[in-house]
Amino acid sequence: MIKEIHIKKFSIVSKHDQNSERMEAKVKTTLLENGLIYDKANPELVICIGGDGTLLYAVHHYLEQLESVYFVAIHTGNLGFFTDYREANVDACIQDILKGEVYEIFNSSLLEARVNNETLYALNEVRIENITRTQLVDIFVDGELFEKFKGNGICLSTQAGSTAYNRSLKGAVVDSGLSLMQLTEIAGIHDSNHRSLGVPYILKDDRDIKITSDDFEGAFLCYDHKQISLDHTKEINCMMSDKKVRFIRYRKYSYLERVKTLY
Ligand code: NAD
Repeated sequence: MIKEIHIKKFSIVSKHDQNSERMEAKVKTTLLENGLIYDKANPELVICIGGDGTLLYAVHHYLEQLESVYFVAIHTGNLGFFTDYREANVDACIQDILKGEVYEIFNSSLLEARVNNETLYALNEVRIENITRTQLVDIFVDGELFEKFKGNGICLSTQAGSTAYNRSLKGAVVDSGLSLMQLTEIAGIHDSNHRSLGVPYILKDDRDIKITSDDFEGAFLCYDHKQISLDHTKEINCMMSDKKVRFIRYRKYSYLERVKTLY
């Protein structure tokens, strides 16, 4: 145990299925019976019930309050990357919250994407994707032209996102605790006229990545489960953000245990 954190106000973000909603009712009732206050607007702890997608939804919901909110998650299916408890351990989770003995606070940095005067954030990854036609982009790293990419798009992932979309693109799984970004191609076209790196590029966390194109028509900027159209956009700037998601861990977390669920 590193310290005691006694939560007074909590909120629950649950997946909309019968199982998750039944568990939500149980967790909420027990915590209320023990004197905690349910405060959806200003919680100290957000309890996510569902899967990794539910946690992503909750993070985006509380984006403006990340400095004052901790997250803990219960998975109603298999063990997830952001979820510390399985359904069968829900009682243990409730007891851990009530006891308040914290093993670790784990910070996970978000990516930041600046586009057309808007700033978007992602815990897993930012993707530029065009599935309707070949997308041409110039990629600059710290202001220097890195490559001209041609294909469906590119994905910039965090350490946390390395096991998500990045992995499907044959990006590397990155060990927990490393702070870096990973750039992968989405269906890159490589021929005698056009070549780009073709393999994942792992970047220092203080790099600035600028992606430009004369024509982003039909392309989308996807950030975690969300997206915006890139029509009429010329430039996107990506970097690691100062914003962090604070996971409260009441028990020892095994990253390897999670990775082993992937194969
Ligand atoms: P979703 O919530 O249904 O998630 C899709 C799958 O990705 C689920 O199996 C989920 O458990 C898993 N996942 C999410 N984050 C993960 C992580 N950090 N590590 C390991 N697995 C993870 O889908 P959605 O709401 O459309 O998108 C949310 C996330 O799902 C995206 O950020 C993206 O990384 C991932 N995703 C992956 C693919 C793919 O691998 N081809 C496709 C779509 C979405």
